[in-house]
Amino acid sequence: SSRMSVFIEAASPHTMNTYGRLPIALSHGQGCRVWDVNGKQYLDALAGIAVNTLGHNHPEFAPALQDQIGKIIHTCNYFHVPDAEKLAAKLVELSNMTNVFFCNSGLEANEAAIKLARKFGHDKGITHPKIVVYEKAFHGRSIATLSATANVKLQQGFGPMLDGFIRVPLNDMAALKQATVNDPDVVAIFFETIQGEGGINPMRAEYLRDVRALCDQHDWLLMIDEVQCGIGRTGKWFAHQWAGIVPDVMPLAKGLGSGVPIGAVVAGPKAAHIFQPGNHGTTFGGNPLAMRAGVETIRIMEKDGLLENAATLGQHFHNKLKAELGGLKGVKEIRGQGLMIGIELDRPCGVLLRQATDAGLIINVTADTVVRLLPPLIMTTAEADEVLDILLPLIKTFLAEAP
Ligand code: PLP
Repeated sequence: SSRMSVFIEAASPHTMNTYGRLPIALSHGQGCRVWDVNGKQYLDALAGIAVNTLGHNHPEFAPALQDQIGKIIHTCNYFHVPDAEKLAAKLVELSNMTNVFFCNSGLEANEAAIKLARKFGHDKGITHPKIVVYEKAFHGRSIATLSATANVKLQQGFGPMLDGFIRVPLNDMAALKQATVNDPDVVAIFFETIQGEGGINPMRAEYLRDVRALCDQHDWLLMIDEVQCGIGRTGKWFAHQWAGIVPDVMPLAKGLGSGVPIGAVVAGPKAAHIFQPGNHGTTFGGNPLAMRAGVETIRIMEKDGLLENAATLGQHFHNKLKAELGGLKGVKEIRGQGLMIGIELDRPCGVLLRQATDAGLIINVTADTVVRLLPPLIMTTAEADEVLDILLPLIKTFLAEAP
């Protein structure tokens, strides 16, 4: 199998060199397990980065997609798509918001949100609108979403970034007020409820409520990127719902299609009618296959109680991680909610990725020092214990070695 690994490493001469890939090619999956082309089995605690909500080859989801492919995949936006109305109505019901625009990815949803905020400003006579964004934020790799993203390493080589963004630290109301005081050009505040790529950094509930009040007071849009933390991952449909607030704009993607590319921007009354015909669009957005994937994902999540599973299994993970790693030297913090879990170590730990896959487990490391778990929401307690039985010894051994 090591001969095969070498083959795979060398076998990407024609895809652009944009990722440091593991020398593994996955061939198929079942539930929370996947197999590579050599037949090696892995437990999946990453779900394609919070995408495969229903795991792999789900017994209801896979046939539903096959049914849809046999009927129609794509029609284009010259036509009504019944499942788009159905999915939009469901998202409206679950979010307490009012209207949805469909696209194909997280960055596209955020790009649309940024355009909404700017036009919201222009409609009020603000010709140079500004959007408040956050330290450690990740919103995508297009020029606008990269400009909203905090990591300067990701921006390097792609300047000039767009202006019109004001950056503030997380959970700091004084800093937010200071950065926006008497600035008539501010139109929106934009953040992830729980930052994903930035290292599983949650906004506190009290801060979320204060920001909601501030946006109401100044007639700013509250725009919450739920691309990674949304769609049930934290045990609520959307992570900001733990704070009892409703945003004005909410980009979604990732888990909404359980693996089929999809993006959505959900808007409340303040933002629902900003776009008029001709203002925004995308060829693939809202196509019948993606819409069927969204409808079926939410239907199965509701039927099988996957929000409850995310909450209780998340608590189970959290309890065990706290008990086993809590006091350990080198473990800085265990964070997250539901099945969005970060274990921050005191040193870069990317090496754990390869060690985990060697041991048959797929995890992730983000922000250099944070072990990240984003398993499918269908995971069982027995599978969670299996994840921990592989992961905990790896982390302990790693920390016991030279710092
Ligand atoms: N927003 C958040 C919070 C994300 O985590 C990501 C992807 O990791 C994105 C936006 C970008 O999504 P996409 O990769 O689908 O463009």
